[in-house]
Amino acid sequence: MSYKAEYIWIDGTEPSAKLRSKTRILPDGADLPDWGFDGSSTNQAPGDNSDCVLKPVLAVPDPIRGGEHKLVLCEVYLVDGTPHPTNNRAKLRPVAEKYAAQESWFGIEQEYTFFQAGRPLGFPETGFPAPQGPYYCGVGADEVFGREIVEEHLEACLIAGIKVSGINAEVMPGQWEFQIGPASPLEVSDHLWLARWLLYRIAEDHDVAASIDAKPVKGDWNGAGAHTNFSTKAMRESYDAIVTACESLGAEGKVEEHIAGYGEGIADRLTGLHETAPFNEYSYGVSNRGASVRIPWQVEVEKKGYIEDRRPNANIDPYNVTRLLVNTCCEALEK
Ligand code: ADP
Ligand code: MN
Ligand code: MN
Ligand code: MN
Ligand code: MN
Repeated sequence: MSYKAEYIWIDGTEPSAKLRSKTRILPDGADLPDWGFDGSSTNQAPGDNSDCVLKPVLAVPDPIRGGEHKLVLCEVYLVDGTPHPTNNRAKLRPVAEKYAAQESWFGIEQEYTFFQAGRPLGFPETGFPAPQGPYYCGVGADEVFGREIVEEHLEACLIAGIKVSGINAEVMPGQWEFQIGPASPLEVSDHLWLARWLLYRIAEDHDVAASIDAKPVKGDWNGAGAHTNFSTKAMRESYDAIVTACESLGAEGKVEEHIAGYGEGIADRLTGLHETAPFNEYSYGVSNRGASVRIPWQVEVEKKGYIEDRRPNANIDPYNVTRLLVNTCCEALEK
């Protein structure tokens, strides 16, 4: 007997990478072999030297096909055995390793928008729906669009063993969020990419496209972010460590470095309006959803916990964002 392994990888599309996948039939009980693909069709290689290599890093039950079938997340390598330049997971590995003793945890809030017939789900054929206000965490057919897909996706994530921690309807019609974590830098990122793949795949069956565009509708409509909640063991035990982490993110050169890795089109989303802080000004504060970094109110009360970096765009590569946060905050906390 055999099973189907869906090999999933991150491509080289600029400015925001996309997911690709293809199916391999393997004998029951067989290990997952390395595999190849045509990098010239994924913006990862020239046509005259097109072979790239898929190295499996995480296999989970496939909730779509069921049975013994698997989803297999891969890293992309060059044929010479070195990580492909687009392989950001390989760049995170040594940083996560270096600061492993600080026990970093991440919870990432993935916002996204459903589209059908070229407009967000719930938008009328012409013009716009009623202004934002009732949609966030709403209920009822006049306020909520696409819930059957969202529920199916949540169930699929749970069956796959993805560490999803919640879902909610967002501020714009057709906009939703799921949260992954808390988990280590590599795990939260792997699980987020797999959860994205499942979202696209399940929405496909409903003739709906899910988008992680950071500003899917111009004008007076909320953008889509990927708020990144972060703690280390020290932060989970002391408020001093919370303050050290917040301060480290505002240090010389750090604002620019982080913003550059926080997703395509960040200046369009971090305007200072719609619950954001201006992208080029760093600030942090308790309960402040207009700050770059928020300290949740319970954290201030309990004097320990985690911080929320509100800047990352929905279209982030989580391998980059977790690498930057671990590098900056853990280096400062080590002192
Ligand atoms: P918000 O109130 O900003 O909408 P959410 O509830 O959507 O927050 O997301 C918070 C995320 O933070 C969740 O994924 C949760 O698992 C994660 N989280 C909770 N505690 C910690 C912690 N100590 N370190 C890192 N992440 C955490
Ligand atoms: Mn072919
Ligand atoms: Mn949230
Ligand atoms: Mn949200
Ligand atoms: Mn948030």
